[in-house]
Amino acid sequence: MKPNLTYFAGLDIGGTTVKAVLVDAHGQQAGTLVEVRSLVRGGYATTFGQLELALEQLAAGACIERQAIAGIGLDVPAPSSDGVIWGRANLGDDWVGTDIRGLLSARLGIPVFMTNDGNAAALGEYALRKDHTSSLMLVAPGTGLGGGLVLPGGRCYEGVNGLALEVGHVSVPFREDDDSLPSCSCGLTGCAEAWVSLVALRRRLGLELAKPQWAAHPLNQSAACIEEKAYQLRDFAQQGDALAVSLFQRQGFILGYLIADLVRVFDPGLVVIGGGLAETSFRNLYMTWIEAGFAKRAWPVYRFSPLDPDQVSTRFEWASGGDAAAAIGMAYTACELFQ
Ligand SMILES: [Zn+2]
Repeated sequence: MKPNLTYFAGLDIGGTTVKAVLVDAHGQQAGTLVEVRSLVRGGYATTFGQLELALEQLAAGACIERQAIAGIGLDVPAPSSDGVIWGRANLGDDWVGTDIRGLLSARLGIPVFMTNDGNAAALGEYALRKDHTSSLMLVAPGTGLGGGLVLPGGRCYEGVNGLALEVGHVSVPFREDDDSLPSCSCGLTGCAEAWVSLVALRRRLGLELAKPQWAAHPLNQSAACIEEKAYQLRDFAQQGDALAVSLFQRQGFILGYLIADLVRVFDPGLVVIGGGLAETSFRNLYMTWIEAGFAKRAWPVYRFSPLDPDQVSTRFEWASGGDAAAAIGMAYTACELFQ
């Protein structure tokens, strides 16, 4: 055992798993990523037990006592403010309105920082770019469409109520073939998430497969459900399938169009694209679709410096932290705040 050193843990609570990362007082990762089931539908007390399990595994992996962990960064898949989840939570009933941060801190006897998963992933991407000190905006298409904004110096902008950067629910001026606006999971219509997300991909795939031009498409011969077919689209796109490529191209274009308006508000200089698409073989192509949508909507000054056309005003990069980014962001934040 290594005595007399302090460590900080990042705990990322997802719908199915908790991902956990440990860093030492210098911000160096200790041990490897730990994953346990999150059991969020069983209520927060059940998940707290899983968090303790993750902490035990982190400590064992780094050959330290658990008591050496001096602070925790925690992120949750829902909007929260001051450690309390506000709503729209895909969690068990007792999570909303409860002082999650306070209860966990009391249970473990150490300080806890808490934010939402989009902010946590943005902080992770910031922490992984050691030489980057200005701002960073993350936009991450996954099951939904999340995001976060890190300000120069490494603090995320959460908003007064913890409700800022809900980028998936900004409206975009796109319509279905019948001129209607698509419904969003939040209850509104026309949100960006209703166009750029796995949920959107399912809807668009169903609509396209009903068209005569795709009658002979392999996905129309398959007995799989639409959810399963939507998962397969990534593989189809990697093989150059015309339907899959056209669906991702539309998503990428709309994402770029949305980013142009977000850049008009925040001017972050660096936009990091997160979510699973960062791991696909067609990601370079996807980035050209994002840039096409961005170019359509952004004023030239947001693309290139008017004084030096070789200088890019807004840089795009793929996320580098994979699905560990949020846990990494929380571990680094705890290290910054609590030592
Ligand atoms: Zn919405």
